[in-house]
Amino acid sequence: MSELRELYQEMILDHGRHPRNFGVLPHANYHKEGFNPLCGDKISLYLCEKAGVVEDVGFDGCGCAISMASASLMTEAIKGKTTQEAARLFTDFHVLVTGLPVEDMTRLGKLVVFSGVAAYPVRVKCAILAWHVLQALLKNDAATVSTE
Ligand code: ZN
Repeated sequence: MSELRELYQEMILDHGRHPRNFGVLPHANYHKEGFNPLCGDKISLYLCEKAGVVEDVGFDGCGCAISMASASLMTEAIKGKTTQEAARLFTDFHVLVTGLPVEDMTRLGKLVVFSGVAAYPVRVKCAILAWHVLQALLKNDAATVSTE
């Protein structure tokens, strides 16, 4: 188990240092910003949606390794998915990081690396920030997202 934990941390550190899909998407038809005042994490999410499918997604911003890694892994997880699948992943991820039993772990794929975050309530907000931004974006909520 400890080896697995180390592996999980390794993936979070890797994505934190070298976030995937990092940068502004000029052709995005959705853009949303979010802020986690507790830690100072800021994320701008760009999403290109066509016929209910996430065709492309990118983000930029700054923050701790957890927030950046979470946004990075989220973009990987939702690219090519339908917006409905993306919304369901938000629910699964929320359940995971709050430490509740997940109905179907296989749906989460690589995102299970964040299971350890549940033990650190302050870190949960870092991990969930990008997902809250995604959810607000999918719901077309005009307000800027804040975890507080
Ligand atoms: Zn943070």
